[in-house]
Amino acid sequence: MKARKTIIFLILAAAVAGPGQASIKSEGDMAVKGQLAKFAPAKIEVDKGLLDSRQRALVGELVNASRYMDEIFLRQVYSKNPKIREKLASERSSAPDTYEYFEINFGPFDRLTHDKPFVEGVGKKPAGANLYPEDMTKAEFQRWIEKNPSDREAFESNFTAIRRKGKFLAAIPYSEEYREWLVPAAESLKKAAKLASNSSLKRYLSNRAEAFLSNDYFQSDVDWVRMKGHDIEVAIGPYEVYEDNLMGYKAAFESFVTRVDPKESARLAKVVDYLAELEANLPIPEEHKGRGRSLTSPIVVAQLIFSAGDTKSGVQTLAFNLPNDERVRKQEGSKKVMLKNVQRAKFEKILAPIAARVMSKDDARGVDFEAFFAHTLLHEVSHGVGPGEIKKGDSDTTVNKELSDLYSLIEECKADTLGVYNAIYLTGKGLYPKNFLDSVWPTYLAGLFRSMRFGISEAHGGANAMQFNYLMSKAAIAYDKKTGLFSIDRAKIGPAIRDLARDLLMIEATGDYAGAKKFVERWKKMGPEIKSAIAKLSDVPVDIRPVYAYK
Ligand code: ZN
Repeated sequence: MKARKTIIFLILAAAVAGPGQASIKSEGDMAVKGQLAKFAPAKIEVDKGLLDSRQRALVGELVNASRYMDEIFLRQVYSKNPKIREKLASERSSAPDTYEYFEINFGPFDRLTHDKPFVEGVGKKPAGANLYPEDMTKAEFQRWIEKNPSDREAFESNFTAIRRKGKFLAAIPYSEEYREWLVPAAESLKKAAKLASNSSLKRYLSNRAEAFLSNDYFQSDVDWVRMKGHDIEVAIGPYEVYEDNLMGYKAAFESFVTRVDPKESARLAKVVDYLAELEANLPIPEEHKGRGRSLTSPIVVAQLIFSAGDTKSGVQTLAFNLPNDERVRKQEGSKKVMLKNVQRAKFEKILAPIAARVMSKDDARGVDFEAFFAHTLLHEVSHGVGPGEIKKGDSDTTVNKELSDLYSLIEECKADTLGVYNAIYLTGKGLYPKNFLDSVWPTYLAGLFRSMRFGISEAHGGANAMQFNYLMSKAAIAYDKKTGLFSIDRAKIGPAIRDLARDLLMIEATGDYAGAKKFVERWKKMGPEIKSAIAKLSDVPVDIRPVYAYK
């Protein structure tokens, strides 16, 4: 699964023009129009009949609490955001796109172009967003801790903002800094807890409400992983630290309000029952099987009802794995939530148009959402099979340690490949419809283009290029020079996937770093055919903009 955000970009703090100077011109609005078009509006709603009146009331309180997360996050991104928003709202009739793009980005900085400002008069985004004083450097922060070692814990906390108090620096707990919004948000969570019928959900909501006031998130993080048998899946609070490009400490507020998908959850439970068989079915010698992997985190399939804050900004999350607190992960593990209706929206707005442009007519017709979702789900499940803890000579080690910097590339490639390999097996077992593979193959091919589209330097793009080139070399993917379109060779693809799975699993089973390097060097590249196909995709939307049915 794609890491949620991969903005690893550092901008030095710079003087920022005051909001009084920010003025909107219609030419500016025109430039924004092109960027805005990269986000296709998509209605996000849950299947009919999945929410009864009690659940609706509960969701209503969660949405109320979530709206406060929007307000907090807006202020975390940039100190002048409230004023700029006000000004853009007043100029909305003459520059509607600028206002809308501001809403998508939670500020005047374009998240698709490494935070380039798109509102006139706004300078560079401070690296530490509004989580530190805008003029504070990394060196000043470090010097302060050296001189005041007792401040270290509070300064490095995920849940404090650093502010200047006269000549001093101070760490202000979020519970104080954002009190204005956290107090009413906690009220809504308490009301929601009363409406919850599931006791584990009730516990999470009550303890999270407490955390908003006490600033101690440990217990409610534990409660979140322990939720069981619940109908409403919700995660709300300060989680990811990607907004903090200065120190990487400070968590941004966000919220996911979702309904657990009962049908998919039942299917997932069946797939998990097959884990031992999937391990036994791997195309490698017996001695390398059962080497200590397991499904490390429980998976919940859910439908998104509403989201807020950090996760709603820029590119939309398909799945999230929380909590981030290492103490909780060690004690309780983590949990992964996959958002099926968000995936459907992206499938319809992005994957289907991609298939129509670069694949043969027949194959493009076979591209199907259920196959796409099955593959993303089996990708996650497949991280849990295959070698994990291995022996090298006489000593015990792990695949991760041996493959070091190449690990995520090889492991992502493995999970994708086994995702299809296992789909074949489970279709044979009747978990999917008989003719399922007719749509699995072309959908898989479309997915490769979707991931390679933004380059191959990041693990997922690179892993997809490796699969693509390997399968091309086996003629399992065919390229028609005349039309420039790609298609799957149905006779060759099954065996080719098996070979690819075997090669990757053996690199992992033997902790073969040199082999991994050779594999990557040979297959991770972008040939002229891929490049010309990707060039045809320039006007396919980059992402969706969620339009919630829930108002
Ligand atoms: Zn993955």
